[in-house]
Amino acid sequence: MAYLELQNIQKRFEETLVIRGVDLTIEKGEFIVFVGPSGCGKSTLLRLIAGLEEISDGKLFLDGADITNRPTGDRDLAMVFQSYALYPHMSVYDNMSFALKLAKVPQEEIAEKVARAAAVLNLEPYLKRTPKELSGGQRQRVAIGRAIVREPKVFLFDEPLSNLDAALRGNTRVEIHKLHKSLGATTIYVTHDQVEAMTLADRVVVLSNGNIEQVGTPLELYDRPANRFVAQFIGMPS
Ligand code: ADP
Ligand code: MG
Repeated sequence: MAYLELQNIQKRFEETLVIRGVDLTIEKGEFIVFVGPSGCGKSTLLRLIAGLEEISDGKLFLDGADITNRPTGDRDLAMVFQSYALYPHMSVYDNMSFALKLAKVPQEEIAEKVARAAAVLNLEPYLKRTPKELSGGQRQRVAIGRAIVREPKVFLFDEPLSNLDAALRGNTRVEIHKLHKSLGATTIYVTHDQVEAMTLADRVVVLSNGNIEQVGTPLELYDRPANRFVAQFIGMPS
């Protein structure tokens, strides 16, 4: 069995089927990008994996365990939200350590984990600042730091760069790429931006209308798109 396995995952909102039976296997350490036009179901699929939405049908396995009905807090996954999800009145240190405090991790261990994450993310000089004293890119790194300290089995990112201006987006994209290279953590990254998808992914999952159109390496999608939709989407300037 693969590290993360989606078996015929479906999601219905009221009468509407928005995820239409998705099968996907992800290996440990892979960087997977979900890409597709707005409304195709990328966020919903990520939220189903995170346990933030209930799966209507199908099964989900992580590291050999059936997590289909497990509450989000027990899934050992960390979702990185956009930077505005930081606690505005808490310092960077307190933002990064909050979940560990809740989990009653001892102070010294918290300090070690935050220090390690801060070093990886170049946040060491900013630990005492509050989010409003940081740039957008620094805030986004704090949001990532909050996930890193929990050492989750899988990182989930939903359009983490969409609030940043173009220059910062490029830089932060490079940072996320480096971070993955250094941590080697299994990552699922959602974007509607083909350039982000093609530059970050080990494998890209192209979605349209709640279905997977194609799964492949960036080169495979570029060289051998499965259909016209994939060819047009991948070829479209962002
Ligand atoms: P994407 O992230 O690719 O833009 P979403 O996953 O947000 O797409 O949405 C997929 C479809 O599901 C859209 O048609 C959206 O309107 C619908 N949808 C998402 N969340 C809900 C919800 N909570 N209730 C009803 N419909 C929803
Ligand atoms: Mg979305």
